[in-house]
Amino acid sequence: MPDPAPSPRVRVKRHADRADYDLTTIHAILDGAVVCHLGVVQGGEPLVLPTGFGRHGDTLYLHGAAANAALAAAADAPVCVTVTLIDGLVLARTVFNHSMNYRSVVVRGIARAVLDDAEKLVALRAITEQIVPGRWAEVGEPTAAEVRSTRVVAVDLREASAKIRRGPSIDDADAPPELWAGVVPLRPVAGTPEPATDNRDGGAAPPSVASLLDRYR
Ligand SMILES: Cc1cc2nc3c(=O)[nH]c(=O)nc-3n(C[C@H](O)[C@H](O)[C@H](O)COP(=O)(O)OP(=O)(O)OC[C@H]3O[C@@H](n4cnc5c(N)ncnc54)[C@H](O)[C@@H]3O)c2cc1C
Repeated sequence: MPDPAPSPRVRVKRHADRADYDLTTIHAILDGAVVCHLGVVQGGEPLVLPTGFGRHGDTLYLHGAAANAALAAAADAPVCVTVTLIDGLVLARTVFNHSMNYRSVVVRGIARAVLDDAEKLVALRAITEQIVPGRWAEVGEPTAAEVRSTRVVAVDLREASAKIRRGPSIDDADAPPELWAGVVPLRPVAGTPEPATDNRDGGAAPPSVASLLDRYR
């Protein structure tokens, strides 16, 4: 049987039964997140920073200021990008067996510096739409100067793994049954939008806000 992992580097060994290498699964986890963690080697030291991202097909795009040090270290260099969705806190009857329900993705590879303005626009659109679907059309494209002052890197999804834990707490048979065990589900929920005080047109929220409220209902 062929190895389902796209490479040995992303083959899940610990709890291999929780692994999923299907791009459909990987896309779905990525599309449910607004934050990733970018891991780079900077001056010989590991550095991991949280940041926004966008997915376009099988490519992840990350952006920042032209002077962004982590993105500079990422350009044409090995990186590791992770995305995590927390679905629940798993309380067991022993500290040892406490856990979380989650869906996570690890992507490894060489990040590519995006220098072409047309591809930069594709990236900036993907990043904007990842965070607030529909917002790109409402706000319009960035100016040429804004595009120039933005650093963008691309990370291919060809070397990626997903790992998913779901289900109840798991206790050993001799765990004290009088202790409460169970799962506390967690999910992000949107609050009431807070319009800027200088909004015009009566402050009516645009469709992108409705889509956000829908997403985080
Ligand atoms: C929210 C959350 C909380 C966690 N808490 C703990 C904890 O407290 N203690 C603990 O030991 N583990 C925890 N894990 C699991 C952790 O991410 C590792 O999978 C686990 O520690 C095994 O590490 P390892 O180096 O032995 O992995 P290995 O199985 O040796 O990893 C090999 C390869 O598998 C892939 N891989 C590994 N883990 C993941 C992952 N989570 N998602 C996608 N691909 C992956 C990567 O490509 C990696 O290079 C948690 C995961 C999440 C998402």
